[in-house]
Amino acid sequence: MGNNYQEKLVGVFGDPVDENPSVVIEQAAFDYYKIPYRYLTVQVKEPELKQAMEGMRAMNFSGINLTMPHKQNVLPYLDEISHTAAIIGAVNTVYRKKGRLYGENTDGKGFMQNLKNGSVEVAGKKAVILGAGGVARAISVELAKAGIVKIVIVNIVREQGEELTKLLNDKTKTKAEFVFWEGTFLVPEDTDLFVNATSIGFENANELPDVDYDSLPPKIVVCDVIPNQVSTRFLKEAEKRNCRVFNGLQMLVYQGAFAFEIWTGLEAPVDVMANALMDVYGVKSSRSA
Ligand code: NDP
Repeated sequence: MGNNYQEKLVGVFGDPVDENPSVVIEQAAFDYYKIPYRYLTVQVKEPELKQAMEGMRAMNFSGINLTMPHKQNVLPYLDEISHTAAIIGAVNTVYRKKGRLYGENTDGKGFMQNLKNGSVEVAGKKAVILGAGGVARAISVELAKAGIVKIVIVNIVREQGEELTKLLNDKTKTKAEFVFWEGTFLVPEDTDLFVNATSIGFENANELPDVDYDSLPPKIVVCDVIPNQVSTRFLKEAEKRNCRVFNGLQMLVYQGAFAFEIWTGLEAPVDVMANALMDVYGVKSSRSA
């Protein structure tokens, strides 16, 4: 019998994509199981997504992650999408089954798993979310599915914020309100969960969402989606007020863990994936000893 050199291809399409760390997380998991998967980081420019999706079909890719600017634009090139991804209107993970391409969104699931890991119960609680972009949509739909009673969407562009608020009110049981973000935002007293789902702090770590941090109710749960720092300035301000903080790095690991499980059917080695990512940032994962 000859050797089998054929690889199972997965990866990420995005632009820019050069600093996307998903390869670190996913390849660590494939290598842990010694399975012949290869994760590719591929720059696909916005107008070329159609050809890229045809290409991944032709090359028999097992799946693909989508990042900026493709999460919404990919929908027409898929055969089927999950109910949640359809509500969110965006897909970050594609998998192939019997030649058909299926779309799922694991961003909000990664966020929820991070909370679950910290034994945070969201049913019956009230959340305030800064931002109304792709990640804010994914997180708010998952929070609504998990039984959160109220979500306040805070955004600097009225149209985008109102659209997400309407989506939540129309398609979920959660009551949503929109607050136009003008000047310094005061956190409502009854907030249980406060989330930065903007991109503030991603490119410039010194940037801080314009919030009156002294208005943060103590001991509430505060989350950041920024995936390239252990503790953002936003989380540091929350920690100073004795809030419980959850970072975007762990969320990134969990959304990647869900993609791994969808593609391989194996249980994701979450600690291996987290440690591989934390190595990039020179720290140990908080999940492992
Ligand atoms: P989008 O561009 O879709 O949304 C960004 C949001 O941030 C928009 O609501 C935008 O407002 C708001 N925003 C940007 N700059 C400002 C500002 N100066 N003041 C107030 N609001 C601002 O991006 P995504 O939702 O896709 O991604 C958001 C962040 O989440 C990124 O940094 C990304 O890296 C991170 N991310 C993290 C993941 C994880 O697993 N941890 C997974 C995926 C993404 P508007 O558009 O209305 O102007």
